[in-house]
Amino acid sequence: MTKTKLAFFGLGNMGSPMALNLIKAGFELHVFDPITKNLKEAADAGAKVHQDPQSCASGQNLVFTMLPSGPVVSELLTSIRTVVAKGTLFVDSSTISPMDAKAIANSLHESGHRFIDAPVSGGTGGAKAGTLTFMVGGQSSDLEQVRTMLLTMGKNVFFAGPVGSGQVAKVCNNMLLAIHMIGTAEALNLGRALGSDPKVLSEIMMKSSGRNWSLEVYNPIPGTMDGVPSSRDFEGGFMVDLMSKDLGLAREAAAASKVASPMGAQAAELYRLLQKAGLGKKDFSVISRFLEPG
Ligand code: NAD
Repeated sequence: MTKTKLAFFGLGNMGSPMALNLIKAGFELHVFDPITKNLKEAADAGAKVHQDPQSCASGQNLVFTMLPSGPVVSELLTSIRTVVAKGTLFVDSSTISPMDAKAIANSLHESGHRFIDAPVSGGTGGAKAGTLTFMVGGQSSDLEQVRTMLLTMGKNVFFAGPVGSGQVAKVCNNMLLAIHMIGTAEALNLGRALGSDPKVLSEIMMKSSGRNWSLEVYNPIPGTMDGVPSSRDFEGGFMVDLMSKDLGLAREAAAASKVASPMGAQAAELYRLLQKAGLGKKDFSVISRFLEPG
């Protein structure tokens, strides 16, 4: 069997711990990131560091990307496909629009390469712990080629359907997450304004029809739950800026498919307002403070 020689691009908050888990699992990793200091941890752990993307990809038989946006992924993959063999599989775990994922896949197929979208859920904590959830779109045979590799970085790997379906799952999930977080904060704030103890109200709603993930494991009201961002001034967790990015992708997808998404639109507006209010680096449950009574 051919040994996997992996080119890994994007050693940011997510990519760096994911790369470290791959190295720990014994993969030969060639890495590139334009920010030199981001390369250090991977280099110390044994990755081969490259000064440009072409040298990083050259001679490798698998390309993995964890980058900020669709245009960045597209530009990078276009610039390196000539230095890898035809048939090479590209695995993109960045969160980008389903339309961008399909366009990138089409372009790579035309040059004889393969592509799957494999965005993740689980945040930086999941990336460090190796417990991410991967949602994969593309050919199932391509997923099977890398399933073991994905399972060194994650705990769950789902095949979502044809190329772009991983991003569809990611965008729909995060839109729903924003909507139920906002709804949970709104309901608990109303209860508070009417004199209810938010902890008691949460317990009641968790056993009633308003039950949801935000209530159960991520309560947005300070003092209701230990170990969640609301209990530490909304530090750590999933940043408003990232939620706002994902809601923007959901808006784009809804417009492209001519689907009404009124709650997603409201959620996108609210998270943009949080960014304008200077709360972009806070956890997304900070919506409860923004909507606080008085
Ligand atoms: P980040 O900004 O910390 O990291 C992105 C990295 O890509 C940076 O180190 C940057 O220097 C590098 N980069 C930019 N252009 C590059 C290029 N041409 N070649 C190689 N590297 C390049 O972002 P992140 O938090 O690590 O997120 C990465 C992706 O994962 C995003 O698409 C994000 O939406 C998604 N995501 C993030 C989280 C999270 O909690 N942070 C959770 C799930 C998904």
